[in-house]
Amino acid sequence: MHKFDVAIVGGGAAGLACAVTLRQLNPRLCVAVTEAGARLGKKLAATGNGQGNVTNRDVSASHFHGSLAPFAARLVARYDVLSLFDCLFSADRAGKVYPAGKQASSLSDCLIKKLGADVQVFLNAKVKGISPSFRLSFADREGICADRVVLAAGGCAQKQFNTDGNAFGIAKSLGHTVTPLYPSLVQLRTDTSYTKTLKGIRAECDLRAYSSEGKLLASSSGDVIFTDYGVSGNAVFDISSRIADKTGVVLEISFLPWFSQEEVEEAVIKRRSLGYEYSELLCGSLHNQIGRAIMKRAQGRGAAEVARLVKHFTLPVCGSLGFDYAQVTKGGVPASEVGDDLQSRRTSGLYLAGEVLDLDGDCGGYNLTWAFASGMHVAHCIAGERA
Ligand SMILES: Cc1cc2nc3c(=O)[nH]c(=O)nc-3n(C[C@H](O)[C@H](O)[C@H](O)COP(=O)(O)OP(=O)(O)OC[C@H]3O[C@@H](n4cnc5c(N)ncnc54)[C@H](O)[C@@H]3O)c2cc1C
Repeated sequence: MHKFDVAIVGGGAAGLACAVTLRQLNPRLCVAVTEAGARLGKKLAATGNGQGNVTNRDVSASHFHGSLAPFAARLVARYDVLSLFDCLFSADRAGKVYPAGKQASSLSDCLIKKLGADVQVFLNAKVKGISPSFRLSFADREGICADRVVLAAGGCAQKQFNTDGNAFGIAKSLGHTVTPLYPSLVQLRTDTSYTKTLKGIRAECDLRAYSSEGKLLASSSGDVIFTDYGVSGNAVFDISSRIADKTGVVLEISFLPWFSQEEVEEAVIKRRSLGYEYSELLCGSLHNQIGRAIMKRAQGRGAAEVARLVKHFTLPVCGSLGFDYAQVTKGGVPASEVGDDLQSRRTSGLYLAGEVLDLDGDCGGYNLTWAFASGMHVAHCIAGERA
């Protein structure tokens, strides 16, 4: 049976960042990466709509959620995740950072190249189990063993990337618990009674989410796309990370974010005085179909109510499209079960990195930042050279 100093389970963002950093810090370490899929970094190559939103200019604490959030904020401030890639980066107006060539696959290519020949890569090698003495078993090949294991096998978002939640089962088999898991950065299902006619229409909005008791849970701004099941778009993804674990949530869409309710009311009164049909009072100011949908909902009431609906258009949330469509998993192995070196408090020599831990980030590069920074951190701790 092959014996390694370190076996990394999962050749995704965190696993590759860990392997590359280990190789840089201590090339003498004998490192293996076992990857369930046929390629390393397959999900990484699909991120950011294929453009790879690798990090964000603002990596402050408020963008991270879960029991490791305070730790994550400290960690991402310590590690320069862009140093993993030897290329130029550019940021958009929202602060989202991409490789300047806007090709996510170049991120995977770069990490794979930096692994070199020293790191032994096992492809199509899904780890089925890890014994307490760190024997890693596979379905159809000889097992390997290692002095230390890094569990970087991801969460349960989009199982076509082999991230089917099996990492949580492995963690549990080694003594860990897993907090409840929810899909995050995901499209939301809503009541569609008033939005059926809006399928495919995109609008720039302010979005707020309220609890059933009327408490403000989260807010975001950006694109909302109406669909046959509810809503999608950047603003929806943003807000989904804050409400993934809540029920009874009501979304409030504020159309025309640059105008006050009073200005909208005045515009409606003016159109009415010019003899426009009731259903057309918002046309021109809003996408015609959105305008008509709001007028239908206003049911003949006056300008004040129309303006209120434009600025406070509510949609009860009845769920999400689930893990098959989510970009990330909310929940995982809790902070209380790992040390500052991300080593398991349950199984000595086991380290955890990336999405398997109870940490999820906002839309905007935060999840990759965490995956890379946590992988780099584990490598530094294993190599005994804490940054
Ligand atoms: C479509 C999509 C777009 C995204 N876009 C962005 C973005 O632009 N910016 C951003 O910050 N985040 C984005 N994310 C989220 C981000 O990709 C993940 O949070 C991040 O990849 C998690 O890194 P990880 O290494 O923990 O897990 P992963 O990158 O998911 O890697 C886990 C790896 O483990 C392997 N594996 C699983 N089980 C086993 C096993 N038993 N044995 C061996 N290998 C195993 C899997 O095949 C996989 O390669 C996106 C996610 C998706 C799905």
